Amino acid sequence: MTPDPRAALLNAALATATRGWPVIPLRPGDKRPAGHAEGDCPRTGRCSDGHVKPEQRATLDSELIRACWGHRSYNVGLATGPAGLLVVDLDTLKAKDEEGTPNGVTSFEALCERAGQAVPTTYRVRTASGGHHLYFTAPGGVRLPSSKGKLAKKIDTRAWGGYVVAAGSTVGGQTYQVTDPVPVAPLPGWLLAALTPPRPARRNVPVATSSSRAGRYADTALTNETTAIATTAEGGRDEALLRGARALGRFIAWGDLPRHVVEQALQEAGESAGLPPGQCRSTIRSALNWSITNNPHRRVTA
Ligand SMILES: [Zn+2]
Repeated sequence: MTPDPRAALLNAALATATRGWPVIPLRPGDKRPAGHAEGDCPRTGRCSDGHVKPEQRATLDSELIRACWGHRSYNVGLATGPAGLLVVDLDTLKAKDEEGTPNGVTSFEALCERAGQAVPTTYRVRTASGGHHLYFTAPGGVRLPSSKGKLAKKIDTRAWGGYVVAAGSTVGGQTYQVTDPVPVAPLPGWLLAALTPPRPARRNVPVATSSSRAGRYADTALTNETTAIATTAEGGRDEALLRGARALGRFIAWGDLPRHVVEQALQEAGESAGLPPGQCRSTIRSALNWSITNNPHRRVTA
């Protein structure tokens, strides 16, 4: 242990980057990124062309890291998406949690048991609050978004659009520590399947609708729009849902798709992307109403 916290954190940042995991400075003793939030962006300096998100400024450059961590004792944020990682975050209970709620570790063990799988052995970090971070390499070819409670209660995943506090950081006097210093395992297929957005709603579309040319077109649009929403990363999700709902509303107006089918597919897609259910419902309702009002007649094409 080095007695100088700034040197210890610089070493933690360099060690993280050496593994190929891009880092961002977090506020000293805190989990939040250093610098301004998107809402307070001055649109100057590095943000002159628009706000630069922590994920976008994460770096592996040891010169930049030395300059930054030499300046203040920042905690170390690890940008999971660019690092090619998916971290399963097993949370502890909070005061507001209902009595009898299992914590993240218990919840994950139950999830593994239901899937008939062993708890995966991989690089694991104990968080300041006593939770666990299980590191996995993300599969190539899919851009997995972060998720909240999608696998089970008290289990989040951090991938694109998220970050984790890396080992060596200290919050509330407790240091994030590697408890299992083993190699990072690939994300197990059964976990990938549980995290991959479902192929939405085709099964619910009545046969009579799908048999017409217009119906088939509407059906394809439904699949494409909902897949696009479900795979949108944090930051653009609500906009993607709004756009998708507006695009699909006209098929309801034209009688090609029943409203409840579109609503259910959009709701599933929005929740798959990690949006809160209530927010999805209100975005979908207002966007569909707008679209139905504004597309009363089918445009005649070709
Ligand atoms: Zn900014």
